[in-house]
Amino acid sequence: MSKGLTFIISDKCNITCDFCGPDCGPDHKESLDAEFMIETFEKQNSSLGVTNVVFTGGEPTLFLNDLYKTMSHIKTRNIPMRIVTNAFWGRNRKTAEKIVKNLLDCGLTEFNFSVDDFHQKYISYQSIKTAVEVSKEFSIPVLLAHKTYPNGRSSKETFENLLGKPIPGLESLESEEFEIAFSSANTIPIGRGAEEITDYSEWSDNLNKSWKGPCKSVFKDITVQPNRQLSPCCGIIDRKTSEFYFSDLENTNFLEVVENANSSVLYNWLALEGPSGIMDYIKEKLPDHGFRDSYVQNCELCQQIFKEPKYKKIIAIGMEEKFNELLFKRRLIEEEFVD
Ligand code: SF4
Ligand code: SF4
Repeated sequence: MSKGLTFIISDKCNITCDFCGPDCGPDHKESLDAEFMIETFEKQNSSLGVTNVVFTGGEPTLFLNDLYKTMSHIKTRNIPMRIVTNAFWGRNRKTAEKIVKNLLDCGLTEFNFSVDDFHQKYISYQSIKTAVEVSKEFSIPVLLAHKTYPNGRSSKETFENLLGKPIPGLESLESEEFEIAFSSANTIPIGRGAEEITDYSEWSDNLNKSWKGPCKSVFKDITVQPNRQLSPCCGIIDRKTSEFYFSDLENTNFLEVVENANSSVLYNWLALEGPSGIMDYIKEKLPDHGFRDSYVQNCELCQQIFKEPKYKKIIAIGMEEKFNELLFKRRLIEEEFVD
């Protein structure tokens, strides 16, 4: 089964947003170079296949030469590529045109611009407007990926006023092709700024409970971190959580890393029941568990679970106790006896 491949090129960023999951900023030094990204891409493409490649950070466009080189290679395999950026380069139209043209020539198929109160404290609205206009000039679709926050000021309407036209919501699109679209989700309280939040009542997903159930990212996405470690999912969780950053691609064969992940009881548990399934197991064993009734998103719950030593002790027991049950469920899914 083909998988998505995400390169977190670096945690280096030109700005320091008040909220940032991976705690990015100007002082980070580590980054993935083009040779390593091309090699990793080839290893995955020839073994598992690659559905799409995402370049993110930090701010990936701080590493344009490595981006151009890697993308030019991937372009020859005809695989869609997306860049997640704060679009700071939109502050100068001529520079923006040069960058966007080069990225188009290298095979870029979509931009995600991170926009919200936190980003716009540092990146002007005019820069976003210019970056959108230039992307349109070169026919690169733009998703404005917005994050909400209780009492936040910016909204879809803010960006519609900025661009002087309605922007369709991503969920309302009838086709996968678009010129511009807007998505909005709650800021996930992980990483820098998360400790500022004390009242989750308005914010947690009480209604749709999207944080419950199997994790759809495990086994589907592969994320390569700036330190060349591989994560078996979206890679949003705190980098200090060793359960999620386990394999050094520098010294371990790529396929071995993927096979280890595939046979991990923990990842199978997350894929089959999600962090909410693990939480339910912990609740049964630990009356004084300390979980909230609702969470903003499943990664937030995952983060809470894996930073707490008392939960991890129970998980270790659970992995032994639930081994046969998880194996059975996995086989059923593989044999397509269940949906
Ligand atoms: S949220 Fe994005 S733009 Fe802001 S500091 Fe983090 S990586 Fe940089
Ligand atoms: S819920 Fe956990 S396993 Fe799933 S993507 Fe988030 S951090 Fe990864």
